[in-house]
This record gives sequence, structure tokens and C-alpha cells, in this order.
Amino acid sequence: MGFLTGKHILITGVANKFSIAYGIAQAMRRQGAELAFIYQNNQFKGRVEELANKLDSKLTFPCDVTKDASITELFKKLKEKWPVFDGLVHSIAFAPRDQLCGDYVNTVTREGFAITHDISSYSFVAMAKACRHMLKKKSALLTLTYLGAERAIPNYNVMGLAKASLEANVRYMANAMGPQDIRVNGISAGPIRTLAASGIKNFRKMLNYYEVITPICRTITLEDIGNPAAFLCSDLAAGITGEILYVDGGFSIAAINELTLE
Ligand code: NAP
Repeated sequence: MGFLTGKHILITGVANKFSIAYGIAQAMRRQGAELAFIYQNNQFKGRVEELANKLDSKLTFPCDVTKDASITELFKKLKEKWPVFDGLVHSIAFAPRDQLCGDYVNTVTREGFAITHDISSYSFVAMAKACRHMLKKKSALLTLTYLGAERAIPNYNVMGLAKASLEANVRYMANAMGPQDIRVNGISAGPIRTLAASGIKNFRKMLNYYEVITPICRTITLEDIGNPAAFLCSDLAAGITGEILYVDGGFSIAAINELTLE
């Protein structure tokens, strides 16, 4: 028996075994959750099915979050298997590659701004809107954000603005859905080498810097994120909503440490 036994949770954002969403799904399964997954299109179907199988799930559905019809169809199909469920992990972000390098002001475009905000922020509330009627009392929604929402980080550029919007989304959604006994939270994760992260220029150098500055003197693992994600979606966290929890080894509270002085 784990603290998620009896909970049914939909996981988005599994691209491969290095995805943060897969680390979260593994932690949730360890705690007894039943899981369902989405994949963006047929190109990713096989891989997601294989990873879902490893976590004892046969439920995988196509969904492209840029399309309302695709989101509606997802929940129509899910309803046939789970008429109601207990939570959603939103682990989705996208910006065109040319937006994630160089001088922010010169690089950002109206189109790049719109796509990035649409996929990385609006999609969270779009999914919540579409499945609200299927969410049981004590359900929890969770998204993934990054420190670039509040600090200017080189090359993160317009994604930082989208993450700021996503964090505001967490607060507004928490306020709107709280009376329905649904909680909404975010995890601000330290950098992890994933497919999405590989699009950010100089990401590897950033990881090296993290190891030096971070109070715990190492980078974050998928398990580091998965365990608190499972907690936030469980009844153990019944009093927590509208919160951004930092899972970054303390990077965001540090300015300087002994190693940087050597
Ligand atoms: P990832 O493995 O590449 O996951 C990103 C996921 O977003 C992929 O599964 C991708 O699906 C999905 N996605 C993109 N556009 C989509 C669309 N239109 N419809 C449906 N799904 C779509 O990378 P990740 O690092 O784990 O990212 C997960 C979340 O964590 C993101 O919100 C990211 O910003 C956040 N985060 C990451 C880090 C880090 O350092 N890695 C740090 C803090 C926060 P496809 O593969 O099918 O395109």
C-alpha cells in the first residue's frame, strides 16, 4: 500500500525514459497509483506504450495540446476507461528552437511568443477545463516550471515569460477549483538533461555551474522530482494548493558558497 493507492492519474509529457514526467510516473506507481498516458502523435505512440507497460498501464491516448478537438477527444476516450479520476500531471513545454538562444529582445517574435505561451502555459488550463467534470473531490493537478519564470536566465528567453504565466495559472486555477476540492500546484525543478532541455543553448555548461553553486553540491535527479510530485498529488498534501515547490537542491536560495570562494 502506497499513499497513492486507489488514485487514477493522467500523465502528460512522457517523451522517453529521461522525461521528468516518466520520473514522476515511476514515483507515483511506487506509491500505488493507476496511470494513463498521452503521446503527441503516432511518432511517439510505440515508445510511450512501452514505458506505460513498464508501469503496468495499458492506457495511452493521442493528444496534441495545441488543438481543442484533440483535448476533447482525449477525455472522451479516457472517460470510457475511467469515468472519473484523481489527477493530472502537466509536464509539457515547447518553444521554437530559434527562440531559445541569444539576445532576448532581438530574438523574440510575435509568433514565437504566442506558440510558447500556448503550449507551455495555456495547455494546462485548457486540459483542466476539459476534464473538470471528471475530476473527483480531492483531485490534484500538477505542472512543471523553472526558475527562469522569476529570474532572467541566458537563452531561456521567452520560455521564462511562459513559465511566469504558467505559475500565475497555478494560482488562478487553484483559486477557481479549490471550492470543488481540487488542488493545483507546480514544481520548480532544477535543470535535468532531457529532450526539451537539449533545445536550450549552453544547457550542459549550466548544469556544471549548478553543481558548484547548489547547496547540495549536485544536480537534481528524476527521483528527486518524482517523490515530491507524488506527495503533492496525494491526500498527504490536502492543505497545499496554489504553491510552487522548489525541487532544485536549494539553488534558488543560494548566492555564493564555499566552493565558489576557493
Ligand atoms: P521532455 O522529456 O522533452 O518533455 C516535454 C514533453 O512535452 C514531451 O513529452 C513533448 O511531447 C511534450 N509536448 C510538447 N508539445 C506538445 C504538444 N503540442 N502536445 C502534447 N505534448 C507536447 O522534457 P522535460 O524536461 O521532461 O520537460 C517536462 C516539463 O518540465 C516542461 O514543462 C519543462 O519546461 C519542465 N522543466 C524542465 C526542466 C529541465 O531542466 N529539463 C527544468 C524545469 C522544468 P513530444 O516528445 O511528443 O513532442
